[in-house]
Amino acid sequence: MLEDSYKHKGMRNALVKEISSKGIKDERVLAAFLTVPRHYFFEKAFLEHAYQDKAFPIGEGQTISQPYTVAIMTELLKVQEGDKVLEIGTGSGYQACILEAMGAEVYTIEYNKVLYERALHFLPKIGYNPTILCGDGSEGVPQYAPYDKIIVTAGAPTVPSALIDQLKVGGVLIIPVGNRLSQKMIRIIKETETKLIKEEHHNFCFVPLLGKSGWK
Ligand code: SAM
Repeated sequence: MLEDSYKHKGMRNALVKEISSKGIKDERVLAAFLTVPRHYFFEKAFLEHAYQDKAFPIGEGQTISQPYTVAIMTELLKVQEGDKVLEIGTGSGYQACILEAMGAEVYTIEYNKVLYERALHFLPKIGYNPTILCGDGSEGVPQYAPYDKIIVTAGAPTVPSALIDQLKVGGVLIIPVGNRLSQKMIRIIKETETKLIKEEHHNFCFVPLLGKSGWK
């Protein structure tokens, strides 16, 4: 039975203060971090790690991203209530829950079958119900397109053009792009069908985006 005690809430509060002191300003992002119990995504023995601002292994050679990273990507995505959001790289499912806690309609795709199965069974158990898909998301998920927002939570070698195609006009894509060791966070705003605004933000280090438009 999963428990969310005052101790857990206190730890979550401290984490929110920490990411806020590191520059996260969007109150709706901070509120979502207060809402989603991050320790649910950890084995009981690793509770102390759940509310530290660091990435943590989730098996299959993958990680649950650092809370600050999740927060800055979510802030850059400018999620609005009712937005249709595609996440590429479900991993633990934590980012998908943060997006759902902000009122988004979430579609999330995971390449690794074990992680997909885990998220598929676990997220409804803790009260979150994104549409969870299994497969190569490096070229998006055309069957549910277009999306208001697309967030890629693995490091890509380039920006896949299919992701731009699947964005609505006015939509936002967040994707870390670079080599295998370091990636720049890129935000692309699709101003019109033909005009894109591209911004570069900080450097990060993500596990690689695999698949057709990812790393081979
Ligand atoms: N968003 C996750 C969370 O909240 O726990 C963290 C994601 S983890 C840093 C990156 C994930 O991307 C891994 O689970 C990996 O298997 C997945 N991945 C890599 N390439 C992919 C692809 N082409 N399509 C879908 N998922 C992919």
